[in-house]
Amino acid sequence: MTRKTKVGIIVPCYNDQEVVETTVKTLLELLETYTKEDLVSADSFLGLVDDRSNDSTWDMIKELARMHSQIKAIRLSANRGHQYALVAGLLEFNSQADCLVSIDADLQDDVQVIGEMIKRFQDGNEIVYGVRKSRYSDSVFKRVSALTFHRILKVFNKEAILNHSDFRLISQRVLDEFSNYTEVNLYLRGLFPSMGFSTAIVYYDRKRRMTGKTKYPVTKMLSLALDGIASFSVVPLRFITIIGFLVFFICVLLMIYALAAFINNKTIPGWFSTVLPFYFLGGVQILCIGIIGEYLGKIYKEVKRRPRYLVDERLQ
Ligand code: UDP
Ligand code: MG
Repeated sequence: MTRKTKVGIIVPCYNDQEVVETTVKTLLELLETYTKEDLVSADSFLGLVDDRSNDSTWDMIKELARMHSQIKAIRLSANRGHQYALVAGLLEFNSQADCLVSIDADLQDDVQVIGEMIKRFQDGNEIVYGVRKSRYSDSVFKRVSALTFHRILKVFNKEAILNHSDFRLISQRVLDEFSNYTEVNLYLRGLFPSMGFSTAIVYYDRKRRMTGKTKYPVTKMLSLALDGIASFSVVPLRFITIIGFLVFFICVLLMIYALAAFINNKTIPGWFSTVLPFYFLGGVQILCIGIIGEYLGKIYKEVKRRPRYLVDERLQ
């Protein structure tokens, strides 16, 4: 018989007072079932990360932790966003389990497949990715934007996994290595696949958010998209070289044309040929500066080497 696996389920929570109680209960029941089935050890736990909510989420977590010994929790010193809250959970709870499973507090991802993830881990996989089968539960806008984004990302980062969000199991060993990845610009969905190791995928259907609002408005989705691209590739920078070369090439052709027109004594249409390149080049330049700025901003954040999160309170 295989040794029983000690599992920690990591849940980032931000202003999730409507869902946190149900979520905790569901996950505790799940752990209980798995313990009875001998799939996980009895000391498996829930690791809640409060991303400095400003509603009663933290009070509810404290109350729940008093009632259930399997709950461990930390509260960050400030709201840092989903990715950082997740990193905080993964790094703070890593030493306490054989593997950690991360899942969003709204339980849109199917908790039932966690069991399958654990089995794949026991088969020797170090990372198990949850991949959703369909997006029927999302709004049309979210579905189209997410799919487009995943496709574009795949161009820049070949290892990206289509339709995978932050629902995954990671072994203690991989998390130990992950702790050496100190970058501030985080895009975990791209980072873990880039680490390699033996991995597996489990498929599931994603549900609608139970209650509460989504905390990923368009601005945050865009920022995540930019991080996803710029953290993993310098392809946009190479675009600049290509655009520059193309513009140069077109200019050479235009010069030849102008020379031929001059020799043949034809009048050159003056306004068009002066004003159009003027705007065209202006646009190209602004685009290029923008792309460079994107990377400069990232470098600026990296060189400061600030801690990515600070823990304010800790339960157990
Ligand atoms: N979240 C967080 N900090 C934030 C925003 C969100 O920790 O600043 C957590 C949130 O509690 C949830 C997860 O990130 O567990 C995903 O958020 P949400 O469900 O709102 O995003 P969506 O599923 O709509 O993309
Ligand atoms: Mg959600």
